[in-house]
Amino acid sequence: MNIHEYQAKELLKGYGAPVAKGVAIMSAEEAEAAAKSLPGPLYVVKSQIHAGGRGKGKFKELGPDAKGGVRLAKSIDEVVANVRDMLGNTLVTAQTGDAGKQVNRLYIEDGADIDRELYCSLLVDRSVGKVAFVVSTEGGMDIEQVAHDTPEKIVTVAIDPEAGVSAANVTEISSALKLEGAAAEDAKSLFPALYKAFVEKDMALLEINPLIVMTDGHLRVLDAKVSFDGNALFRHSDIVALRDETEEDAKEIEASKWDLAYVPMDGNIGCMVNGAGLAMATMDIIHLYGKEPANFCDVGGGASKEKVAAAFKIITADPKVEGILVNIFGGIMKCDVIAEGVVAAVKEVGLTIPLVVRLEGTNVELGKKILNESGLAITAADDLDDAAQKIVAAVA
Ligand code: ADP
Ligand code: MG
Repeated sequence: MNIHEYQAKELLKGYGAPVAKGVAIMSAEEAEAAAKSLPGPLYVVKSQIHAGGRGKGKFKELGPDAKGGVRLAKSIDEVVANVRDMLGNTLVTAQTGDAGKQVNRLYIEDGADIDRELYCSLLVDRSVGKVAFVVSTEGGMDIEQVAHDTPEKIVTVAIDPEAGVSAANVTEISSALKLEGAAAEDAKSLFPALYKAFVEKDMALLEINPLIVMTDGHLRVLDAKVSFDGNALFRHSDIVALRDETEEDAKEIEASKWDLAYVPMDGNIGCMVNGAGLAMATMDIIHLYGKEPANFCDVGGGASKEKVAAAFKIITADPKVEGILVNIFGGIMKCDVIAEGVVAAVKEVGLTIPLVVRLEGTNVELGKKILNESGLAITAADDLDDAAQKIVAAVA
């Protein structure tokens, strides 16, 4: 789950991180009061969407010459004018895809006098089984380019989970970022605080780009992007409360309600499977026969008929889906339950595209009987190979 920049900053502020004063607004009427509550004379109006690259982004409605999704303003009037210009329009960035994202919230923030823009992120480094800081002196809007062209400018410092962020770790990170004086002092509390926030809130990613050294020598968190581990959200009701469903795909919201693992992709065959391994095998074999999956929905081990029906509806809600492959190995999951769920869902939403079902395992005969007697146009398959060939042929 992702949150907005202003929410991430509020959260980090609670851990003692230095962030600027700012006010989030959802309507143009709030702009003037928001700006007046800040010290000035420099303000920044920042689009709040769940995607990066906003500064270099372009608003669809405003044409190529208009300013981007993060704008400096030198007066309250300029803040208000920018808010009117931006709010409600669609921002296209390197991370949004061509469709872009509608900007429904803006963050009006105190403008900082920037000396240097640095990069600092925390992530779970699976290769060492630790949370790691990934830092670079080359922060700002082109970090992807830096990673690509000059990877040696990016330094990784893994943290021992027993000891936490040691003084040696802080020194290592600070020297990688060439921090001196006040900034090096700030770093002694900032890096442990970021680590504490990351661990306590079960973050999957905390990215600060840029972390800045201001002209007064101090550090400030100027941008913040946070993703949380979805599997740990049950113990963070405060984080769940920050969810902005307008930023999420309706299908993914529905899937999370049913505790289904739903992953959208680019092809045109929808897949209902149980278990991640079977999902991978199903996608591989579709690819082998010359097509690509549009998505997969993993109904897991012990799904109910209702859950299967919900999964089926989520899969068919994607307009890219031209055919569906249900590939279930019934172990704990029983084939008759799958069959009943599929039949119930098809009866409810209708079926205008080919559906191939391959069932194997517990109660398979009963499952097949339910499908055969349903009167629906379902193609039965005997094994994975047969199923993949049949669905690929059907959508060709
Ligand atoms: P994004 O990464 O989505 O483009 P950022 O929040 O990183 O958005 O903002 C882009 C750039 O705008 C920053 O690299 C920085 O140069 C500038 N900027 C952002 N916030 C401020 C601020 N409060 N004061 C001054 N400049 C800012
Ligand atoms: Mg940024």
